[in-house]
Amino acid sequence: LTDRLQKAFKSLSRKGKVSESDVRDAMREIRLALLEADVNFDVVKDFVKSVREKALGAEVLDGINPGQQIVKIVNDELTKTMGEAAVPLNKSAKVPTVIMMAGLQGAGKTTTVGKLTKYLEETEKARPLLIAADVYRPAAIKQLQVVGEQVGAPVFEMGTDTNPREIVRQGMAQAAANHNDYVLIDTAGRLQIDEKLMQELSDIKDIAHPDEILLVVDAMTGQAAVDVAKGFNEQLGVTGIVLTKLDGDTRGGAALSIRAVTGKPIKFTGQGEKMDALDVFYPDRMANRILGMGDILTLVDKAQKNFDEKQAQELTEKIQANSFDFNDFLVQMDQMEKMGPLEDVMKMIPGMANNPALKNMNMDPKDLAHMRAVVYSMTPKERANPDLLNPSRRRRIAAGSGRPVQEVNRMIKQFDMSKKLMNQMSKGNMNGMDSMLGG
Ligand code: GDP
Ligand code: MG
Repeated sequence: LTDRLQKAFKSLSRKGKVSESDVRDAMREIRLALLEADVNFDVVKDFVKSVREKALGAEVLDGINPGQQIVKIVNDELTKTMGEAAVPLNKSAKVPTVIMMAGLQGAGKTTTVGKLTKYLEETEKARPLLIAADVYRPAAIKQLQVVGEQVGAPVFEMGTDTNPREIVRQGMAQAAANHNDYVLIDTAGRLQIDEKLMQELSDIKDIAHPDEILLVVDAMTGQAAVDVAKGFNEQLGVTGIVLTKLDGDTRGGAALSIRAVTGKPIKFTGQGEKMDALDVFYPDRMANRILGMGDILTLVDKAQKNFDEKQAQELTEKIQANSFDFNDFLVQMDQMEKMGPLEDVMKMIPGMANNPALKNMNMDPKDLAHMRAVVYSMTPKERANPDLLNPSRRRRIAAGSGRPVQEVNRMIKQFDMSKKLMNQMSKGNMNGMDSMLGG
């Protein structure tokens, strides 16, 4: 997908002006590219139509060419189709909040129960009860117990001989007795949607009155994922979607069509088998992943924003307080590109204006685009707290940004170094800086 789109936009960006036929050509490429990425046909059709309308009517900003303007419109439209902002979990006014899983066999329901438990424990010190309502495979209960142990949450089970409806009924009673604040119901799946499964799920829904029915969908199944999502939503009514296995090399086409076809928000994504491999879903980041062309977008951003004195001041203060994180880094990169070479940015730091050491700091705009892709692939928590970036997170970020792990590692290291450096410089400690530049 990425290659195709980049090619399409390159041919556009070489020209000074975009004619109607240019737009038509670009739209054809976009359509093909999205179809190749397994985006649903109807979704592609609507999407292309709305981008075309916006592109034809759009004013081209100063400083960029019409092709880049189209890229920006495509990116904004992708983000919009996927829902603009992250949507939080529905919560019940009184405990417990009940979350019921649904999805085909192997989609990742049981794993997601574990990940969500860990997420809730960490973000709100929750004490969930997990209910084992998949009685068709003997291993399923055991699997949930293993997961429950890993995240330190109790599992309610009654073996494989009890009807899942009864298990849920008694599980709910247990949660009430124990004052659990959350109940997570792990359900059975099938290889395909069938009547019996849907009946069982809808009975469980009637018994447990879930605040949230999370449909778990395997992103690697592409087009099929959309049909599954449509079927579950029509027959059961889901409230949110978890898109798993995004750690693979899928480009995320499923995210676009599932949201468009069901109208239900994607709330989380699964990025691996481990219990911490769950991320809140951010449409803008997924759009970047689908497009994979941050460097062009950056150009557009550059033309759109003017340098903001206030931001510069805030950055300087952050550097001095040593609380500079990857969010600030993004802001800094934006400013850098608007302002020109890095030396100029460094000169904003008090006392730095005439330092000869700055002459050695050169940066290729392409590197900046790559760095930006890496930072965009971090979660907000990771951006705010770079210490979280352990090897498995780095691997995920590498996959998400399409950059090699070594590059991610190098960049984080450089970030650490320049943070120290900037901090020392801002305090006027030239010795510290010399030793760092020398070493
Ligand atoms: P269920 O049948 O829906 O309960 O699916 P499971 O939770 O048992 O998961 C099926 C398989 O997919 C297991 O091997 C999981 O480890 C794996 N899995 C689940 N989520 C993810 C994910 O986000 N990424 C990857 N790579 N594997 C996953
Ligand atoms: Mg399971």
